[in-house]
Amino acid sequence: MAESRFDIVVIGGGPAGAMVSLTLAQSGYSVCLVERREFPRETLCGEFLSHEVFDIIGNLGMEREFLQLGPTPINRFALCPESGPILSESLGFTAYGLKRGAFDQFLLNAAIRQGVQVLQPAEAESVVRRGDGFEVYCRSGEASRSLQSRWCIGAYGKTSPLDKRLHRPFAGRRTQLNGIKFHVPSSALTGMNADEIRIFTGPDMYCGVNQVNSGMATICFLERRRGDNVSPRARLRELASANKHFAGILEGTMMSVVDDAPIYGTGNIYFGRRNVVENGIFMVGDAARVISPLAGDGIGIALQSGELLGRLFREHRHSGPNPVVLETEYPRRWGQSFNARLRSAAALQRIMLSTPLRHIGAALLSLSPSLLRAAIRLTRE
Ligand SMILES: Cc1cc2nc3c(=O)[nH]c(=O)nc-3n(C[C@H](O)[C@H](O)[C@H](O)COP(=O)(O)OP(=O)(O)OC[C@H]3O[C@@H](n4cnc5c(N)ncnc54)[C@H](O)[C@@H]3O)c2cc1C
Repeated sequence: MAESRFDIVVIGGGPAGAMVSLTLAQSGYSVCLVERREFPRETLCGEFLSHEVFDIIGNLGMEREFLQLGPTPINRFALCPESGPILSESLGFTAYGLKRGAFDQFLLNAAIRQGVQVLQPAEAESVVRRGDGFEVYCRSGEASRSLQSRWCIGAYGKTSPLDKRLHRPFAGRRTQLNGIKFHVPSSALTGMNADEIRIFTGPDMYCGVNQVNSGMATICFLERRRGDNVSPRARLRELASANKHFAGILEGTMMSVVDDAPIYGTGNIYFGRRNVVENGIFMVGDAARVISPLAGDGIGIALQSGELLGRLFREHRHSGPNPVVLETEYPRRWGQSFNARLRSAAALQRIMLSTPLRHIGAALLSLSPSLLRAAIRLTRE
């Protein structure tokens, strides 16, 4: 890549970065995307792709290519509380289970086909405002280079050293909320149906299990960390002691399947408010705000926020985008699109992580299964 000057530099090549880059390139902007890791790479995620994701893939005309990746269709949701029976309900739509390694590569390839230039692996180490544009300093191994652009978009996910460098108010907060993912062979799980996602509850944690592609399943949990430094594998053992339904799916393997699996995790996840535009940088996906994973909607919001910002730039393509207008309009539209879903998901997560509220919730749901349907609907568009 010889050029160093672009209309727009996008930092991060996950779903949000790939989607916003693709949409901007479709409108004729020159876009450089900087991604610090080589793909395909795994990353923390339950890998449940909601219907919002599939709708966007459909709009891009890429359903066939997506289905060729072999995702597992998921049509049912089952809540498995510590006490009481499993509560199962139709999702009311088809979702898919697919490893992030495959999904993120698929989207990034689509952006490259659209003309996005990708600098990878390269880490954006700092962003400086220069006149009416930006200079983004990147490091790739021993080499460093700088990129100049009129606009800069942050798509670097839930946490990055850039947050501190940009003086984002939440940077460095210790929330004690950690996420962990394991991939295990789906054949090792007892009694799970291929077309369902199960959520298991336990003390200070909830854990999702669903099948993905290539004969694998994802076990992914969010925990409120306690002071006792328990390892992720030990946390799953604790869950198996507290929740007989979880112990049941692992009974064939006596947990050895988890002992052999690599761990993907992130600590101190901050779910609170963030500025959607920070120092003139437009944030998309998790960099704008992280939704509680319980909703299974983070990738959907990453794609939708990328598309939203891309459309806004498209509307202003011919008149020339005006920073004052865009910096007002983007947060307004972002809030309209996502605030309600974020609030519902946060409320459900609070219930899940509080032992008394969780027990009351499970008791109510077992009395009235239609409440489960309503809870699923609450987190969707
Ligand atoms: C426990 C847990 C489970 C979840 N399960 C689900 C689920 O089942 N379904 C769902 O839809 N969502 C789920 N989510 C949410 C989902 O993972 C995220 O919302 C989604 O990944 C956001 O996409 P993104 O593109 O914003 O960020 P990311 O996917 O994090 O991508 C950011 C990219 O930026 C790169 N990057 C970071 N810093 C730099 C830098 N300085 N320079 C260059 N590159 C950089 C990273 O390498 C990465 O590739 C879950 C979240 C958690 C915490």
